[in-house]
Amino acid sequence: MKLFDSHVHYEDAQFDIDRNKRLEALKETEVKMILNCCSDVEVFDTVMGIVENYDFAYGSIGIHPHWVLGTPENYLQRIQELAKHPKIVAIGEMGLDYYWDEPKDLQKKIFREQLALAKKLDMPVIIHDRDAHEDTIEILEEYRPKGVLHRYSGPVDILKRAFDLGMYVSFNNDLSYPEWNAAPIACLMETPWDRLLIETDCPYAAPYERQNERCEATDVKNVVKLIAELRGVSEEFVAQKAYENAMNVYEIKGN
Ligand SMILES: [Zn+2]
Repeated sequence: MKLFDSHVHYEDAQFDIDRNKRLEALKETEVKMILNCCSDVEVFDTVMGIVENYDFAYGSIGIHPHWVLGTPENYLQRIQELAKHPKIVAIGEMGLDYYWDEPKDLQKKIFREQLALAKKLDMPVIIHDRDAHEDTIEILEEYRPKGVLHRYSGPVDILKRAFDLGMYVSFNNDLSYPEWNAAPIACLMETPWDRLLIETDCPYAAPYERQNERCEATDVKNVVKLIAELRGVSEEFVAQKAYENAMNVYEIKGN
């Protein structure tokens, strides 16, 4: 089985102790491709190092809504410059997060600025939306980007509005948590096979049995298993569709 984990955070401080060892170990697994997603200016260099050192690693560059405070004046120029790298294939992650307390006006400003830049560069975006579904979709409908709603767990009707824009959605091990998997499962059941991606969001979001532990890209295999069971198809089919879709949305050639 060939797996594409479309949203990992190997730049995260939780991997500072063994980042290269863990990435090196992926070479011996079924994970053949990863998209390392960026969250903050502080980790731009780490993300660039990962995509340069590992053939199977592609990346995004951007500012997560939880890290908008203190974003430097020149952040857009820096994103634009790094986005020229052939292995930076998306802008993000960006969006709105009303779970935490960052000012909404600032979140919206930085979200809009990154969307405008992605349009200008004709690049896909990776969207983070936590407890901000209506505001997020309204802004997306304004800019009409291509890209992915990552770890989405909002209402199905809003997801369908994103599909109308041509966007994709990625699912992770949230599907295994009985406390909150109702929303992602409802979304999964309405997702066309040509719009579905898989991810771990590692080191976050381990499978339920290992909750609170650091997880890794190899845990994407459990996401495949969950989707295959819920949709009544083979794991091979899910893995292949998700792989093709990730290659398409991030416009990666080959493999
Ligand atoms: Zn993320």
